[in-house]
Amino acid sequence: MKKLLIVGNWKMNLNTQEASLLVHRLHQHIKTHRDIEVVLAPSLLTLQPISMEIDRRRFGLASQNAYFVDEGAYTGEVSFNMLRELVDYSIIGHSERRRYFQETLEVVRDKVAAAVRNGITPILCVGETSPERAAGETQRVIHDQLTTALHNLTPEEAANVVVAYEPVWAIGTGDPEKPDDIKKVISWIRHILSELYGETQAGEQRVLYGASVAPEFVRDILKNTGVDGFLVGGASLNYQQFAGIVDSAYAALHEGSDHD
Ligand code: PEP
Repeated sequence: MKKLLIVGNWKMNLNTQEASLLVHRLHQHIKTHRDIEVVLAPSLLTLQPISMEIDRRRFGLASQNAYFVDEGAYTGEVSFNMLRELVDYSIIGHSERRRYFQETLEVVRDKVAAAVRNGITPILCVGETSPERAAGETQRVIHDQLTTALHNLTPEEAANVVVAYEPVWAIGTGDPEKPDDIKKVISWIRHILSELYGETQAGEQRVLYGASVAPEFVRDILKNTGVDGFLVGGASLNYQQFAGIVDSAYAALHEGSDHD
């Protein structure tokens, strides 16, 4: 059975001290569940200290970015190769990187390949902007983002990639996309994956939803869209909210059963 994956993207927030305090609170408030994997994505600066503070049996670690060349004269960059063994996952292709740092489809593709080459699982973000949605281009945008990003991988490598559907227009608004609409896009993503790798792999691949996730939306999205977890931005900076998301997910998973 697939574990539910819940990833907290702290973005460019929290200095070392603040990050350490949040980790302390998360240890106190997030319960460990066998069927839920919780991953933290702090800034590059705080990855190293946080890696020594967290209980790695309870929390995985992700980078928010890295460069696709393994080493060399690339001032200011950190490579996936340098992050080997420090992180389990790397968020790649986030809309903020595509938008503010001009990451093209090809850059995202090369980063996905570099992560895989270095034993790091990509969390590949795909999603349409507001104008693209208004123009009815959601399916095309997601098709292009997904197929280009996976292009240089073998089917076995692609199977391990986590896809995160993030409607760009809903990020940071407090108002997630409606479950019916999320469901359509998640089905579209699995359809593309099944065309590429067959139905079995498409069904097994982990596909997350991200954009304005908060505890009160978790049940509905989890029950009605076919997602395997969440990529959480703003709410992951608040330990009560983030713990609430994990609690709600656990409750939704076990509704009607008496597991603990
Ligand atoms: C994100 O940007 O990846 C995200 C999910 O942000 P938020 O939860 O704040 O909408």
